[in-house]
Amino acid sequence: MKKILKYLFYGFLGVFVSISLFIGIFIYKAKRGINFYQTEPIELPAGLGEKSILIFSKANGFRHSEAIEASFSVYRQLGNKNGWKIFMTEDAGIFNEEQLALFQVVIWNNTSGKVLTDDQRIIFKDWIERGGGFIGIHAAGDDSHQWEWYEDEVLQAHFSHHNIGRDLDTAMLYLEMDAEHHQLFEGLLDTFGLADEWYCFYDNPRAQTSSILYTVDETTYNLSGNISFLIKDKNWGMGQDHPIVWFHQQKKGKVFYSALGHSPITFKHNNFQQLLTNAIQWTGNF
Ligand SMILES: [Zn+2]
Repeated sequence: MKKILKYLFYGFLGVFVSISLFIGIFIYKAKRGINFYQTEPIELPAGLGEKSILIFSKANGFRHSEAIEASFSVYRQLGNKNGWKIFMTEDAGIFNEEQLALFQVVIWNNTSGKVLTDDQRIIFKDWIERGGGFIGIHAAGDDSHQWEWYEDEVLQAHFSHHNIGRDLDTAMLYLEMDAEHHQLFEGLLDTFGLADEWYCFYDNPRAQTSSILYTVDETTYNLSGNISFLIKDKNWGMGQDHPIVWFHQQKKGKVFYSALGHSPITFKHNNFQQLLTNAIQWTGNF
């Protein structure tokens, strides 16, 4: 009898340690990323150069596998429809001067963690500021990137948390007033409901140089980002003005960020596809 109890004890201990380790590694990876780098230039198809868009989906932190998978056919479809050359990779070796120069737009498609070496960062920063178009999707705006310039000047907002529920919450989004008839607003819905994961930021990009495209109505979803006993203080929002899609000029380049994009639902949504189309046209000067 005693032996059985002993085995049971060690059995439970083993399970407990394994689960704790799993949760620990998961949280560490989501917050800090487990970083690996690629530094060799990669093989590219011929014909890139004009109307070329690089879709970069590398995830050193949390990986939005389903959203990334679903996004591929959407980008391909948009490319075919609009005559854009779409190139997709998760290999950061492409962040060298010669190969980046072939693209007008780079999309960080749920990119997470520290994905570039310091040298690649310098090249990419320079590419943006000399006239490149940058689009960040969802996780590209979380706090796993460990890059001050990127968070301060490109994103212009610092990620705090996202809401955590059993399912994705459907929230209402409102298009800003388009007083200047900006091309980014063309064909977009004034208001629509979307099931996504809702990011909350410490600061409002409107207070920087960003213009807002969509805000989310916090009264239409559950704000809480608390995780049982682990995190207790993430039950707040940004108030009435909660930007969720925004854009700005970055020296000679252009930046567009969408906190939307956690799941395939978003990529399949017509209005999100219109948003992507507008974003590519604007950032790429097409
Ligand atoms: Zn997400």
